Amino acid sequence: MKIAVLGAGVSGLSAARLLKDKGHDVTVYEKESTVGGLARSRYVDGILYDPHGGHILNSKKPEVMDWAFSVLPKEKWQYTARNAKIYFNGKYVSYPFELSLCELDIDDAVNCVHDFILAQNGPEPDNFRDWLVWNFGQSIADYYMLPYNEKIWAYPLEQMETKWMQGKMPLPSKKEMIHSMLLKDPTERKMPHSTFYYPIDGGIQSFMNAIAQGLNIRCNAEIKTISKTEKGWTVNQSETYDHVISTIPLPVLGKVMTEIPDVVKDCIADLKYNSLTTVLFECPETDITWLYIPSKEYRSHRVGYQSALTPHANPKPGMGAGALEIIGNRFDVSELDKKEGILPAELQYRQTLDSEFTEYAYVIHDLHYRENIETVKGYFNTVEGFDLLGRWGAWNYKNMDLCISDAMEIAKKL
Ligand SMILES: Cc1cc2nc3c(=O)[nH]c(=O)nc-3n(C[C@H](O)[C@H](O)[C@H](O)COP(=O)(O)OP(=O)(O)OC[C@H]3O[C@@H](n4cnc5c(N)ncnc54)[C@H](O)[C@@H]3O)c2cc1C
Repeated sequence: MKIAVLGAGVSGLSAARLLKDKGHDVTVYEKESTVGGLARSRYVDGILYDPHGGHILNSKKPEVMDWAFSVLPKEKWQYTARNAKIYFNGKYVSYPFELSLCELDIDDAVNCVHDFILAQNGPEPDNFRDWLVWNFGQSIADYYMLPYNEKIWAYPLEQMETKWMQGKMPLPSKKEMIHSMLLKDPTERKMPHSTFYYPIDGGIQSFMNAIAQGLNIRCNAEIKTISKTEKGWTVNQSETYDHVISTIPLPVLGKVMTEIPDVVKDCIADLKYNSLTTVLFECPETDITWLYIPSKEYRSHRVGYQSALTPHANPKPGMGAGALEIIGNRFDVSELDKKEGILPAELQYRQTLDSEFTEYAYVIHDLHYRENIETVKGYFNTVEGFDLLGRWGAWNYKNMDLCISDAMEIAKKL
């Protein structure tokens, strides 16, 4: 079968490779000059930078990890235990916050435990704001959950649903929480993403390049039109294919694919997402993998330290670099000259090294999400020879492993 894959992020690349291995004739179209999509890396003066956020790999699905290791052998990956912290009242509290209450000042810890005892009473709310208070109690919500989530989503939490959280957020049981309050042993905390893999050399880009090896990929090839003809799907008014797999964002697809009905286009237009700026900066070396910053005093909600993911992230021993993240429209990096209001001074921001803007960062699961996406998917299920795939192609909060898993499902049926 002759297949066009739109987009060369992890979804498009994985689908293309799996389908090529099955003997199909596959062409990948990518608008940028390099492959990888959100999972990219580059070096800045010898410092490794994942410009769309640090990308680590782990999965509950063994077939995904087996496939990843068949593409980039296991010995080329660094296996790391997460050492994430939360910067709270000048302290570095272990992540997840709700399992680290014994590290707080005693009055704060008592408030958290007291309110947690009262929590999970009454019916479970279906909006995210009320759910955070209901599930964790008022103090954990006020100290961490509400301010952090308000920053990372930049969207009213009361207008978000709660179903997306499974597997994304640590959701400890009441017993696990009580256990953690009594026992100061973070190794006991087996929550999602507590260990992970990251390529030893070349960043996550080296995984993307390995998947791309041997594929027919057209870079700098933006999709401008897709139309159905008698012979199949015609892409950019030139080549025709039996089947198309689209991983490009649905709002982009809505513009280039003329036959989508208006009712479906309206649902696509109502899908919500947010954008992100990352800024690479020089700072002291650290063994922290990520630092979460819930306080509204600072605009950045998170800093990733890639030197904690691989020993080859920085050129000189003792030198450190972090990548801070800010949600919203493109952030004016010259504001960092003032530094105040962006990051806590303790993080010792020394100089700006690079920055990048990501338009499509996080899918927002607002209260209309399910209705909208069901209409969109319902329509595409009726379109012959066309599949939606990926975080933005199928519009869901999926990490790389689930994108690969979905690519496997599509490859199985073709
Ligand atoms: C800040 C952040 C941190 C993350 N951290 C992790 C992590 O640690 N681990 C993890 O597993 N996942 C992580 N993720 C999620 C991960 O990035 C995604 O699951 C994954 O990269 C999505 O891949 P994709 O191929 O579906 O989409 P993308 O990577 O977005 O790929 C889509 C491709 O389509 C191309 N494209 C768009 N329009 C067109 C067009 N008109 N024509 C041609 N090409 C086009 C784009 O250039 C892009 O290359 C993170 C995401 C973010 C935002």
